[in-house]
Amino acid sequence: MPLSGICGADHATAAMLRGNWYEIDLDAIRHNYRQLRGQLPRHVKVYACLKRNAYGCGAGPVACALAKEDVDGFAVASVLDAVAIRQEGVSHPLLLYPGALPVAAPTIQSLDLTVSVSSVDELEQWRATITRPRIFIKVDLGFFRAGATPFEACKLLARAAGFADVQVEGIYAHMSELPTTHTSNAKEQLDRMHAILREASVLGLRPAVVMMSSTEGVLNHPEMDFDAVDPGALFFGLPDSDRPTRPVMLRPALKTISASLVSVKRLDASLGPVPGIFGVNPGMTLGVIGMGWGDGFPRDVPRGAVGLIRGKRARLLPPAHLEHIRIDLTDVPDARFGDEVVLLGRQGNQSITHEEVATLWGTDIVGLYAQLRDHIPRIYAAMQTTKEIPHE
Ligand SMILES: *Cc1c(COP(=O)(O)O)cnc(C)c1O
Repeated sequence: MPLSGICGADHATAAMLRGNWYEIDLDAIRHNYRQLRGQLPRHVKVYACLKRNAYGCGAGPVACALAKEDVDGFAVASVLDAVAIRQEGVSHPLLLYPGALPVAAPTIQSLDLTVSVSSVDELEQWRATITRPRIFIKVDLGFFRAGATPFEACKLLARAAGFADVQVEGIYAHMSELPTTHTSNAKEQLDRMHAILREASVLGLRPAVVMMSSTEGVLNHPEMDFDAVDPGALFFGLPDSDRPTRPVMLRPALKTISASLVSVKRLDASLGPVPGIFGVNPGMTLGVIGMGWGDGFPRDVPRGAVGLIRGKRARLLPPAHLEHIRIDLTDVPDARFGDEVVLLGRQGNQSITHEEVATLWGTDIVGLYAQLRDHIPRIYAAMQTTKEIPHE
């Protein structure tokens, strides 16, 4: 197969051999990047956040695709995602969010990664394990997660600046709000960042890169741009809000979830009485799909869940199994062993939307991407389409 030079090429073979796959549209991801870039002032750098294996879309191939655009760097939480990105030959600046441990220092050093530092203890442990560590100071502006408090931020900056071997490349925060917050405190978080930067400037310690905007910030708070932004969800077509201040037309990165029919049979009386399972009837044609709850599908098959086969919608039947799900093929008499079954996406003139799947699975669209499993092969479509399809 003439696949070399295409991002994620060998995944196609794995998809064929396994019989189920996710189809990822790398053009959509590049398009989404360009939509963002077009809205940002030129001096603002973009660090693409590709955590959780690029939201299930594959950190290596997604980084490879974005590297063909003028993206400035990447950020991930897992060293393994960083390894996948470097293995694609992508040499851009790569920031590790909190998640990496000193035991990974040799890998971090050899891959030339930048670590996040939220405390003096972290700073000392990285200094002890990495020669000339490159760091971003992480601050917590009111999200109550990792990061130094605003009170501690400049003390930490000063400690880091005191070490000649430490290169402080930037300071960043994850502007985000807890579900318990009733009114937005985005402004308070921005005020806290400004206060830290004022103090840092007085001390001559303001790093070259200040960053605090993820998808929500970059779409709705241009005043938070500073020197760089690190959205993630946005690249996959997940806008986070309905009417963003910055109008972007995003396209979904996940085109299809596909599986194959691994068994077809007509039920007959020799099986004994039909068990009291929802939807299994005597005389029906029963199919089995080679994908189950071990592959990210909900364990309780939601009522109303369907698969597309030979261009028709066919009911999925509970319960799901680790590797298999039943499907009612009674109305698809020409269905055959090996047929493709689409669980999300389009087949013929039928389609199952992201919204439909997210609702059935009891989650939202980011939650749907988070359900994508790393062991399912991904096929990378890059069709150079120019048509703009807004994400509903
Ligand atoms: C997840 C994350 C992001 C990206 O968030 P999105 O909402 O996906 O854009 C940015 N920065 C940090 C520190 C994160 O943890």
